Amino acid sequence: MKKPLSLYIHIPFCVRKCLYCDFPSYSGCEGIYSEYVNVLCRELKDWSGRFNEYKVNTVFIGGGTPTVLKPSDLGRVMDTVLNRFDVDAHAEITCEANPGTLDLKKLTEMRSMEINRLSMGVQAWQNDILKRLGRIHDRDTFVNDMSLAREAGFGNINCDIMFSLPGQSMDNWQETLERITDLKPEHISAYSLIIEEGTPFKEMYDKGTFKPAEDETDRKMYYLSKEILKDRGYLQYEISNFAREGFESRHNSVYWKTMEYAGFGLGSHSYIDKRRFHNTYDMKKYMEYKGNGSITEEMECLSENDIISEFMFMGLRMTRGVSETDFEDRFKKTVESVYHKEIKMLINEGLIKWENGRIFLTDYGMDISNYVFEKFLL
Ligand code: SF4
Repeated sequence: MKKPLSLYIHIPFCVRKCLYCDFPSYSGCEGIYSEYVNVLCRELKDWSGRFNEYKVNTVFIGGGTPTVLKPSDLGRVMDTVLNRFDVDAHAEITCEANPGTLDLKKLTEMRSMEINRLSMGVQAWQNDILKRLGRIHDRDTFVNDMSLAREAGFGNINCDIMFSLPGQSMDNWQETLERITDLKPEHISAYSLIIEEGTPFKEMYDKGTFKPAEDETDRKMYYLSKEILKDRGYLQYEISNFAREGFESRHNSVYWKTMEYAGFGLGSHSYIDKRRFHNTYDMKKYMEYKGNGSITEEMECLSENDIISEFMFMGLRMTRGVSETDFEDRFKKTVESVYHKEIKMLINEGLIKWENGRIFLTDYGMDISNYVFEKFLL
């Protein structure tokens, strides 16, 4: 039987940089979109032979904003994937999409390329907050694009939303949660704003012109998300992710279950054969791609202890947590033999529970999950 594989494909372009964003993405590069896709398709073709023993179960085209590309360029990427890799007939194929870069024709063409899931960067409902974030869209554009996506046949849509934003009150956050769930996306990712190095928000923070939300407000907003989303039929299955039954992201679960994935495009990461590596972040170097290995950087061979640690702290991100049987099947030893002391201590502190063969975070554990994860580092 073939081994499962997930593909991540990075499109590093955006119409404009949002003020909080530190992802590898660039604006003002319209002139190189098609050439970038040429290089990306070459990279996909060159590596595809390496994965003959694998079946691709999920594909994620992320960015950046993949939907800034012309449908013909996106189509070339998808054709290469479908022709060169053994993609399962029921694969989850997601494309990230930002409101303001979509129209019915593009969405319909995307659907005809086998893309069956859309992940929309919505972030907030209020136009003044969207403006403060540097987003290119307003609320009406999002609502319109959402209905176009349905019209084009997308039956699986994620909306990314953010809390602890500048100028965002508890009422604003409640309104965002309620209005967006009124539109019935199948999946919602709700993240707290993180002020990242090198972003305009970080500069504003350093100058004192931007004040992040207090920890207490941040937690209250998080709890409000859990409450409203639960009421509206979304099951929380990961610290920041909620879905209607049957619509959990299969691609993201691959990361949380530390399964294998291959990344293509600028700065994309891979985890194959116990090795983690990533492509160059240097656009010039990427565009001069000369074949397999020429753009690979920072190859790290993971030890058994690294893999066990990661299995635990990534697995604990999911509300179902880690199964003791899965642990034993994978590592040929019991979870207790490795973590007896840590598990006992974390249970006593009320941060994790161990029930019915699974170890998982409590609500309190989710609040200080980084503290819990550290305890599983070997
Ligand atoms: S659209 Fe997304 S990737 Fe692009 S700048 Fe904004 S947050 Fe970053």
